[in-house]
Amino acid sequence: MVAPVEAGSRSLSFWHDTAPDPLEPRAPLPGDLDVDVAIVGAGYTGLWTAYYLAAADPGLRVVVLEREIAGFGASGRNGGWCSALFPASTARLARMAGRAGAVAMRRAMQATVGEVGRVAVGEGIDCHWSRGGTVLLARTPQQLERARGEVDQARAFGFGEEDLRLLGAGEARALLAASGVLGGTYTPHCAAIHPLRLARGLAEAVERRGVRLYEQTPVTSIAPGWARTPHGAVRAAHVLRATEGYTPQLPGLGRVLAPVYSLMIATEPLPHRVGEEIGLTRRETFGDYRHLIIYGQRTADGRLAFGGRGAPYHFGSRVRPGFDREPAVFAALRRTLGELLPALGQVGVTHAWGGPLGVPRDWCASVGLDRATGLGWAGGYVGDGVATSNLAGRTLADLVLGRDSDLVHLPWVGHRSRSWEPEPLRWIGVNLGLRATALADREEAWTRRPSRAADVVGRLLGH
Ligand SMILES: Cc1cc2nc3c(=O)[nH]c(=O)nc-3n(C[C@H](O)[C@H](O)[C@H](O)COP(=O)(O)OP(=O)(O)OC[C@H]3O[C@@H](n4cnc5c(N)ncnc54)[C@H](O)[C@@H]3O)c2cc1C
Repeated sequence: MVAPVEAGSRSLSFWHDTAPDPLEPRAPLPGDLDVDVAIVGAGYTGLWTAYYLAAADPGLRVVVLEREIAGFGASGRNGGWCSALFPASTARLARMAGRAGAVAMRRAMQATVGEVGRVAVGEGIDCHWSRGGTVLLARTPQQLERARGEVDQARAFGFGEEDLRLLGAGEARALLAASGVLGGTYTPHCAAIHPLRLARGLAEAVERRGVRLYEQTPVTSIAPGWARTPHGAVRAAHVLRATEGYTPQLPGLGRVLAPVYSLMIATEPLPHRVGEEIGLTRRETFGDYRHLIIYGQRTADGRLAFGGRGAPYHFGSRVRPGFDREPAVFAALRRTLGELLPALGQVGVTHAWGGPLGVPRDWCASVGLDRATGLGWAGGYVGDGVATSNLAGRTLADLVLGRDSDLVHLPWVGHRSRSWEPEPLRWIGVNLGLRATALADREEAWTRRPSRAADVVGRLLGH
């Protein structure tokens, strides 16, 4: 099904295969170093944090330590939805921090989409930005009920039509001519991007601002005042962890986040007639209201990049290159895409890949800095990290610089999820949850009623 792509970093994803830069690794850490801030991980979280720190205080000595290359992780491989989505619901945020805190968090996320676009333009990063918003389709009566419920919840918190709009069947089909459309929702708060172009462009932008970025440099342990690597030790007043799905590999952090895989495929460029027929004229990102998340975008070169969950969680929170490739999941994604968009016909798939994302036990992303130790962190975005990592970067910068900004009072700041269960309970629980979510859609198709399995999973996760 999938044509081979070049070996090395290019084979990591469609985005790596089509990146304009050579993806040559930068030099590793040359030896021991004394700096003000050491950041571990050169994905969006680490790079945005470095970016805002350097922008705020050009005199600050900031170093980023990356085991592979900038954009190696989820930041280079994702679906390219730069959206205002946050993994915890507004109702959940309101339970954590009151109504005002929940609304402030949502508004901050909406503003963050614009902030990413602003910096991309300002820094000359051509990440194929297209702010077309998101259309989510409802293709069963139960999905339509969930769409209505989401709009009702938005209204209850004071968000209007300009934030989230219920679509009739005709309106939804006009945006994306999928099969069996009964309605849907539309939000303007999302841009489609080429994710790796953003990560690589940010890496160059931080270097221009004086940040030192060392690649091929695995951090083997983090402690107050220190990040240690086989190439030398970095001494820093602040050590910030930006390792997301890879976090459990660090000593002492095995149960902080669970790495869960999301997998994607990309089609060949659509024939002109097919592209015209399906819509997405402003490169709207798209999905539907099924339980097992699917997400797609039309790429700047006219393909569909389409992904979903469904790959298993691996015992002991292991992360391995082989886990990025699950032929059964790739085949299921192609079937799902064809069923959603029959106009695709026999359009071929040219790329298939995946990567780990970080899931906290309570499904709520967080950012924080322990003043006493100087240790900071951000992550646990589940599948919503493209924009959220920018908000995290600005917030971590404010925390390090001791600024009392609005950002440092948002409800996710300083939030700590409880740890995941030890194995084998974690393996059983995560995989049961993933299975139950997949079964929930089948259950609804059979019973034509809202799924009970989904309710149980939601309750277990505290949604
Ligand atoms: C297939 C897929 C699709 C997704 N789609 C979307 C989407 O459309 N929209 C959205 O908002 N989110 C999406 N996400 C999630 C989003 O990509 C992530 O939340 C986000 O990129 C996380 O950025 P990060 O910098 O925190 O982590 P990462 O990008 O994973 O970066 C972590 C970096 O740390 C490095 N590292 C790890 N351990 C060490 C160590 N010990 N020493 C040195 N370096 C280390 C890694 O090599 C890596 O480069 C998706 C994720 C995946 C996998």
